[in-house]
Amino acid sequence: MNNSIFSFPVPANEPVKGYLPGSPERIAIDAELKRQSKTVIEIPLIIGGKEIKTGNIGQVVEPHNHKHVLAHYHKAGEKEVQMAVDAAMKAHKAWAETPWTTRAAILLKAADLIAGKYRALINAACMLGQSKNMFQAEIDSACELIDFLRYNAAYASEIYAMQPKCAPGQINSMEYRPLEGFILAVTPFNFTSIASNLNMTPVLMGNTTVWKPSTTALLSNYYVMKVFMEAGLPAGVVNFVPGPGSVIGKVACASPDLGGIHFTGSTGTFQGLWKTVGVNIDKYKTYPRLVGETGGKDFIFVHKSADAEAVANAAFCGAFEFAGQKCSAASRMYCPKSLWPKVLKGMKDRCAKVKVGDVLDPENFVNAVIDEPSFDNIAKAINYAKRSKDAEIVIGGQCDKSVGYFIQPTVILAKKPHFKTMEEELFGPVLTVYVYEDKDLDKTLELLDTTSPYGLTGSVFGQDRIACDYIADKLRYCAGNFYINDKPTGAVVGLQPFGGSRASGTNDKAGSSFNLMRWVTSRAIKETLVSPTAWKYSYMKKDTK
Ligand code: NAD
Repeated sequence: MNNSIFSFPVPANEPVKGYLPGSPERIAIDAELKRQSKTVIEIPLIIGGKEIKTGNIGQVVEPHNHKHVLAHYHKAGEKEVQMAVDAAMKAHKAWAETPWTTRAAILLKAADLIAGKYRALINAACMLGQSKNMFQAEIDSACELIDFLRYNAAYASEIYAMQPKCAPGQINSMEYRPLEGFILAVTPFNFTSIASNLNMTPVLMGNTTVWKPSTTALLSNYYVMKVFMEAGLPAGVVNFVPGPGSVIGKVACASPDLGGIHFTGSTGTFQGLWKTVGVNIDKYKTYPRLVGETGGKDFIFVHKSADAEAVANAAFCGAFEFAGQKCSAASRMYCPKSLWPKVLKGMKDRCAKVKVGDVLDPENFVNAVIDEPSFDNIAKAINYAKRSKDAEIVIGGQCDKSVGYFIQPTVILAKKPHFKTMEEELFGPVLTVYVYEDKDLDKTLELLDTTSPYGLTGSVFGQDRIACDYIADKLRYCAGNFYINDKPTGAVVGLQPFGGSRASGTNDKAGSSFNLMRWVTSRAIKETLVSPTAWKYSYMKKDTK
């Protein structure tokens, strides 16, 4: 038995590669894109380390070219979900007893495999399957995914080292036990890194998972699962079950062994899972931990002292990168009247140069939204704004799903602060702006605070630093990630732990030790060196005088 007291140092963030024409990474990804574009793969379930094919088949298509099929996948039914739960429970004891340094070593190996050998494979799958351009895929399915794995080893070191004091005659310690039961990891389409992390954070702390991947991110997610296995993850520690969320959620939540849910996705889905857990609460062996990061209506608040050009750039990048499908994407902006003409011009200049289209053309800054229901929902909201007397489309507004699910970057000017698209999450490249009178600062801050149920990300722009502090205080609970003079997107693991409260989630901060703590249930142990035999209190002794 290795008896070292081991700690993993805080790593450096994985460098973002530039993909310049002719660079090794560009040559590798171009070749991989070509190869994957010509291939149709079959995606099985992976339960207890074994591939399972149900014959109930679905398709994975390219969002930017929806007739192009990338994969056929097998869907889990109730039987397979139960098999996954059983496999996770079977693997639980041995994995929980595996030294944490060995668990960390497997995860760190997965990080190195993705940083090297499989970087092009997973980035290309993310580009084709989730319609991310090269840069957006690199920062997600390579860098952030790797950072989560590496930082978590350092955070686990800190947690295991957190020990109580010992006192004369006694030894005290804290044992950080994995939860009793399996973890249901329900993952979203928009970040491959999150899909990995929702499994691997509990797994690092000794838990086993049933992984319900998003149907529209299956290609990259399947390759990530294969890397976990190559890195040495034992059978049954993560069980990969694509299929209908309603079936998987229902069966997994009905199990008395549900130890927790690690979720990222929409508010409605998380609330549905929470309600199911509530209904089943008397069936569980332990109270399931519910950790969920959900929707947002993320804002930019502009003070009259702001640099209009910086605001225009932040609004443009914050709202339109990855077609606005980041949970942190800027989707509403409050701009003072005095700055609005300059801010609008800055956004118009940028949008005039933007190309929207296929990920294979590196000139396209914006690609497709994920699928038809999402496209229809966004197009409906844009059309509603076009028809409404309370709004005006000042940039974009065109939608076309004939080849891919393309939506031009769109800016809606809301004439009323509670216009529908100021309040509801859209998850597309649409920014709604409300222009306020410069004198109405307090009124507008109050409006921002009370307009949407969410509290995920937000930013303030202003050259007057004192005013920025004032605004930050007024908006204290509006965002779990708050930015001063920056766009509200782009949190980096280890630098800005991520998560929001209100309707945006349980704010357990992905990319921090706070999140790891949710996947352990600690046991405080006191050992008395010489056990006492006397039972009387001191004052009970007879006075000998
Ligand atoms: P979604 O809620 O549609 O799906 C998320 C996952 O839940 C998918 O795997 C889906 O198949 C599954 N699911 C759906 N119904 C289910 C059910 N009844 N039982 C169990 N699982 C079920 O979300 P999405 O479209 O994949 O992702 C977009 C949403 O995610 C947006 O609202 C976005 O804001 C949010 N998001 C939040 C964060 C964050 O950190 N706060 C990060 C990324 C995405």
